[in-house]
Amino acid sequence: MIEQFRSLYGEDRQPRFYRAPGRVNLIGEHTDYNLGFVLPIALDMACYVACAPSSDGRIHVHSLDRREGFDFDVDLRNAIPRKNWTDYVIGVAQGLARRGVEIRPMNLALHSDVPEGSGLSSSAALEVSSAFAFLDGRDFDKLEIAKLCQQAEIEFVGMPCGIMDQYISVFGRKNRAIEIDCRSLQHRAVPLPENVAILAVNSMVKHELASSAYADRVNECRAAVDQIRRVHPQVASLRDAKVEYLDEAGLTGTLKKRARHIITENERVEQFLVASERGDLAEMGKLFVGSHRSMQFDYEITCEEIDFLVDAALSIDGVFGARMTGGGFGGCTVNLVEPEKAPAFERAIKQAYQARWGVDPPVFRCLPSEGAGQLPGRE
Ligand code: ADP
Ligand code: MG
Repeated sequence: MIEQFRSLYGEDRQPRFYRAPGRVNLIGEHTDYNLGFVLPIALDMACYVACAPSSDGRIHVHSLDRREGFDFDVDLRNAIPRKNWTDYVIGVAQGLARRGVEIRPMNLALHSDVPEGSGLSSSAALEVSSAFAFLDGRDFDKLEIAKLCQQAEIEFVGMPCGIMDQYISVFGRKNRAIEIDCRSLQHRAVPLPENVAILAVNSMVKHELASSAYADRVNECRAAVDQIRRVHPQVASLRDAKVEYLDEAGLTGTLKKRARHIITENERVEQFLVASERGDLAEMGKLFVGSHRSMQFDYEITCEEIDFLVDAALSIDGVFGARMTGGGFGGCTVNLVEPEKAPAFERAIKQAYQARWGVDPPVFRCLPSEGAGQLPGRE
């Protein structure tokens, strides 16, 4: 990256580097924008941004992965989206500017090893690493960074996402999962049992309708809350609802199913944490499967390839549980596997998927890693 940065910008100075990780969510899917609970881990896959002051008074942003760059005026207060990947970067810079941070003329070059659109949150990794680069060492509240990155994705990119992806990218911890309370925006770092491997399998499916279907789910949850409030006025979000409220409020059909997923999913996060503390891997696996079935039949955000990966995993020896992770309609599954059986699992799941779909699915071990920060400089 140093060499590419130098040749791109005709620089011989050393750029500074900032890193922000992608994530795998263990359990608690679509609960974040319903102000409930999630349990992600930050990955060792991350977005890296190299940066140094520019000499022409402008901001230059280059994606080494896309081999393309764009430049921008430093006055971003009224910038409008260009409808490409730079929106994630510029939306964040605008958010910082609107909070009083001076945006300086800069050259930026980024590279990410978080696969795009695979449910591992390459978007938040890009946003958070960009925020760190624009701040370039200046002190700024970490929670505010997560919040303004989320706001950039909602308002500048146009994706009505929750806070989980940006939050875990900022606050991830090595060897810990992070339970986030998406209402109080507090978190706690929790150790996981040592005798389990967490393996992600990438279906390689990217559904075009994912972002409109995501917005539909956000709206359906809102509509369900409106209806529940007529009977239980204290319910401000589905976080506050109980399963019995659904019939009491006369919810039926789609809205009932959507709300039931969120309510039961929040319960599963808490149950998963209790099981994890006891080291009860069988129970953790059962909760994984319960979460998946709820996404499959109630929230209806899975797809055939993903359901296949889960069902195939559950028939492989040494697997405690499997579920889709991330926003849905493709992306990855996450699997809890006996560590000694992990290599055999990888072979078996690859073979099964290849035979059915003609695609070799990447499999990787998820090792909980640190959240965003500056990389130590080196020459
Ligand atoms: P996910 O966050 O699950 O990976 P999203 O659709 O939310 O999927 O974000 C993917 C988008 O993020 C890409 O379409 C692209 O605009 C942007 N992005 C991610 N990584 C890079 C990269 N290395 N270079 C340029 N843009 C990137
Ligand atoms: Mg994303």
